Formats: sequence, C-alpha cells, structure tokens
Amino acid sequence: MASIFTRIIAGEIPGACVLQTERWVAILDINPVAPGHTLLIPRQEVALLPDLEGATLAESGAWLARIDRALRSITDCDAVSILLRDGPAAGQEVPHLHWHLVPRFNGDHPHHFVGGSYASDDQQEQMRSAIAAALDQQ
Ligand code: 5GP
Repeated sequence: MASIFTRIIAGEIPGACVLQTERWVAILDINPVAPGHTLLIPRQEVALLPDLEGATLAESGAWLARIDRALRSITDCDAVSILLRDGPAAGQEVPHLHWHLVPRFNGDHPHHFVGGSYASDDQQEQMRSAIAAALDQQ
C-alpha cells in the first residue's frame, strides 16, 4: 500500500506543497512543531536513507540547504532543526523517508519536538505560499 506521502504527492489526499521537482517534494507538516515546519520527501518511496537511489540522494543536501534558507528568510528564525528519523526505533512513524526542517527561535527548548497546529487554514496557506515563493527565487 502506498504511503501517506506518496498519496499526497499523487494528489489523492490534500497536502500543503512548497516544492515539487522531478525527484523531490516538500510539504508543510500537518502538525507543525513550529509554523513553517516542512517535510522534504523523495518521490521514490523508500523507508530508509541507504535505500535511496543515487541521483536522488545526491540532490538531498542542496534541497535541505534551500529549504533551510527559505525558512530563515520567511520566519526570521534564529536556527533550523533538521531531523531524519531513519527507522522505527528512531521514532519514524511514516515509513517513507523524510527530513523534518523546523524553524527555531532563541529561547526555544532545542529538544522540544511536539506537534501543534496552524491557527487557521489561511495562516497555513500564507506560510505555504511564502515558502514556495522563497524557494522559487533561489
Ligand atoms: P516521523 O515521526 O515519521 O519522523 O514524522 C512523520 C511526520 O509526518 C509527523 O511530523 C506528522 O505530523 C506528519 N504527517 C503525518 N501524516 C501527515 C499528513 O497526512 N500530512 C502531512 N502534511 N503531514 C503528515
């Protein structure tokens, strides 16, 4: 059965998409640790990093850096947490590889990773479109 992320990528269920390339998609997390919390997901449905096809893997660092840069410019955050849970024992709940990128602010607890929600659909859409535009401009 296809993962929830593959179904979002296929347009079967809604997702707030900020990036779509030949090999990669990025969406807003449905339960953001902070507004702007983004998931970078390969179209290739593999659970674990070592199983990712080589050309896709080679692009991953560049997309992480671009999303990090976009989040800094949009949210004016002081830092970005970048997290990959590479397997269930590391806390992976969705068995489709994904990096979390979470804006962080001075005073945040660095290990806090509890999901919240957007105040409204409008607020989520504003965040989505701002990040998408910032990525377009890079
Ligand atoms: P994991 O624990 O696997 O590293 O993280 C899975 C993440 O996927 C969680 O942060 C969760 O909020 C997010 N997530 C789960 N289902 C959906 C969904 O249907 N849409 C979106 N946008 N995010 C989801």
